[in-house]
Amino acid sequence: MTDALEESVAALAERLAAASRITVLTGAGVSAASGVPTYRGSGGLWRGRRAEDIATPEAFAADPGSVWAWYDERRAEIARCVPNRAHEVLATWSRRPGFRLVTQNVDGLHERAGTEGVIRFHGSIWDVGCWDRCAASPRRWRDDTVPFPELPPPCPHCGGPLRPGVVWFGEVIPGDAIERAVAATACDVFLVVGTSAQVHPAAGLAVEAARSGAFTAEVNPDATALSAALDLVLPGPAEEVLDRVDRALADR
Ligand code: NAD
Repeated sequence: MTDALEESVAALAERLAAASRITVLTGAGVSAASGVPTYRGSGGLWRGRRAEDIATPEAFAADPGSVWAWYDERRAEIARCVPNRAHEVLATWSRRPGFRLVTQNVDGLHERAGTEGVIRFHGSIWDVGCWDRCAASPRRWRDDTVPFPELPPPCPHCGGPLRPGVVWFGEVIPGDAIERAVAATACDVFLVVGTSAQVHPAAGLAVEAARSGAFTAEVNPDATALSAALDLVLPGPAEEVLDRVDRALADR
């Protein structure tokens, strides 16, 4: 770790120690060390398939079995992954009053690390819902079955197809997630971890937090669309940098 990064780690720890309201926004990078592929880049999530052929309501309507085959495989992969040090540090911090975690991830690893009350912007790969929105079904419910014996899995209420409980391209983010995330921008420190910040409206949350007077910081090995607008940038992998920040907090 370079001296400059050590100084930034100390600076962030100081801000966090003094803060009563901390909000963290995470993206795919936070789960990279757990073996969950990120969205973009080589070895990325889509692996040569176009996102719009998988993650849209139109793709599902055209071929639910093939869309489900992809999700079924991803669920099996994620079930084999375990939370890494970044998830663990954030779970520890989440026990502080005034801490809120907004995630764009759908893998459930924050929850598995012990973070409660996660604000999930893009749903969960572990949730399902009735594609036909039958009257007997709740909007979403959890189903951990891996693999499903039949694809698409049938709705237990009406027998129609189930859909994955993630937010697809072209779909709206659940209203309660937006409301809670916007409320979380009123904070003392807003920390962005492992997101390329190219997907809106999540990326706009940091800008909103800065406008409301929050100190803003980012942890990411690469520069992002947000980097230049933030108060502090900590270039490095989340599992290492957050571990360092956590130790600096403990040493205070
Ligand atoms: P993204 O793939 O666009 O960007 C990932 C970011 O993580 C990059 O900026 C990269 O530099 C950074 N990164 C890589 N390794 C890192 C590490 N070890 N520590 C910290 N940062 C690291 O991801 P996004 O911005 O979250 O947007 C992708 C969308 O796709 C999200 O909306 C999400 O719903 C979905 N997605 C979810 C998962 C998941 O649940 N784990 C995985 C892939 C994609």
